[in-house]
Amino acid sequence: MKYIDEFRDRRLAELLAQEIKRTVTRPWKVMEVCGGQTHTILQFGLEDLLSDAVELLHGPGCPVCVTPVELIDRAIAIAQLPDVIFCSFGDMLRVPGSTSDLLELKARGADVRIVYSPLDAVNLARKHADRRVVFFAVGFETTAPANAMAVYHAKKSGVTNFFLLCSHVTVPPMIVAILQSPGNTVQAFLGPGHVCSVMGWREYEAISRHYLVPIVICGFEPTDLLEGILRCVRQLEAGQARVENQYSRAVKPAGNQAAQMILTDVFDVTDRMWRGIGSIPKSGYRLSHAYKQFDAEREFEIATTCGQESPICISGQILRGLKKPPDCPAFGQDCTPEHPLGATMVSSEGTCAAYYKFGKVRKSEMN
Ligand code: SF4
Repeated sequence: MKYIDEFRDRRLAELLAQEIKRTVTRPWKVMEVCGGQTHTILQFGLEDLLSDAVELLHGPGCPVCVTPVELIDRAIAIAQLPDVIFCSFGDMLRVPGSTSDLLELKARGADVRIVYSPLDAVNLARKHADRRVVFFAVGFETTAPANAMAVYHAKKSGVTNFFLLCSHVTVPPMIVAILQSPGNTVQAFLGPGHVCSVMGWREYEAISRHYLVPIVICGFEPTDLLEGILRCVRQLEAGQARVENQYSRAVKPAGNQAAQMILTDVFDVTDRMWRGIGSIPKSGYRLSHAYKQFDAEREFEIATTCGQESPICISGQILRGLKKPPDCPAFGQDCTPEHPLGATMVSSEGTCAAYYKFGKVRKSEMN
């Protein structure tokens, strides 16, 4: 398939891996930021191709995984109300809260619906004027513009029974939090290609300069990732630290300015809790004053809960690159995609789910 096969060329992947091995003089540690990148690494056995030349650490770039338990509990509390239609993308339904999840609630009769666009939820609100329709807005800068646009449309068309339960998070403050965390071993980052297609990559330059860390904005196919790793190790070996853009077919330096304008209009930057990591200053979005009437947290006075994580789940350490799924005693035993104990197993982009799914290296999927 054009635009995919050329980035899954096995011969090219092997040549890139050989060049990486020729370049390194010590085993560098590189973190890929996005869950989609983690899945490609495991699906195509890229760690195996690299042998021990580079250790890949898997970052917290899966929005479902980092949504805090408290917010899942709040979503469940709102969805239980009889006049509410609660809308979400499908991947949030099985994320465990303290005692339950949205799918279980749906099975018990609550009106929880899977939608494919936030605009579907706005249309539901128009259709059911006697109900309150809530959309669970989860994601990084990639999904935030569509959610902002839904709120903008609701306001413009006079829809007053549509609300956003907002849990948007942003990547640059998360990278800073990882670099500042005790015990950090990450020496370079493969940056988030999709996020940068919206936001550009200028804001990563200050991080790279300040922390002397190479950041290579990277795509999601095998040869994208190997080229990104090669660019990282060339910088590390030369004692350099700058931002490079490997994903130039999708990412421009300034990003998508129309999308950035709608984000600035509808959202303010705020501190956010990250599941397994804790609060990170200025790492998310909340609805701005001009759109506060659409804020579900303001509309529904739900008491803040103290979310309970499974005591054996080490997903917090996995999300910071300090541990890997096989280090968890529950991995593949008590915790599986069918019975997940933590969000990194339930999400399709989660690191534990990727290790479980691609436990056997499948190099044959490359051409
Ligand atoms: S395997 Fe399950 S319990 Fe262990 S860290 Fe992953 S999600 Fe948590």
